[in-house]
Amino acid sequence: MGMDALSALIARFRTLPGVGVKTAARYAYAVLGFSEEEAEQFAAAIVDAKRKIHFCKECGTFTDKDVCDICATRDKSVICVVAEPKDIAAVEKTGEFKGVYHVLHGVIDFQKGIGAENIRIKELLARLSGVKEVIVATNPDIGGELTATYLANQIKPLGIKVSRLAYGISVGSEIEYADELTLQRALKDRKTL
Ligand SMILES: [Zn+2]
Repeated sequence: MGMDALSALIARFRTLPGVGVKTAARYAYAVLGFSEEEAEQFAAAIVDAKRKIHFCKECGTFTDKDVCDICATRDKSVICVVAEPKDIAAVEKTGEFKGVYHVLHGVIDFQKGIGAENIRIKELLARLSGVKEVIVATNPDIGGELTATYLANQIKPLGIKVSRLAYGISVGSEIEYADELTLQRALKDRKTL
């Protein structure tokens, strides 16, 4: 027996991060309150984003251009390395960082079988000419630390400074959820690896 349309819609919303049954149902009823035109625009925005948005060919974040606005306009001598595109927003909120980013799309995690070759590390190594400093802004957890150490071992021998955010936030917390002031301090007080 197939799912009815309402249950199917609720199930779709439940696939979103942080959305439980109750919230999914609220979203589904909100959609049912849309006019047909609004519903079509809503669905079209999802499909449109999916079709037009891809990874920046330099840093790996989401963009609808070849090269994202940050890569196109900012100081390329300093690269801030993050695990996921959403981490860029957190660092940008501090207003403190004027360089460019590099998105790894993951961190090294041996338990999950993710090695250095499975994330965008060789792409980072390929864009280091003219770079003075690489700031590693992965989360202060096992995978984030392992990745930072690996990057320092690869990059320092090239004569490039490698630093790590000085987290005032506790181990296991994520940069995505750190407040602006904490991140601002973490960036300013960064430690050379
Ligand atoms: Zn970019």
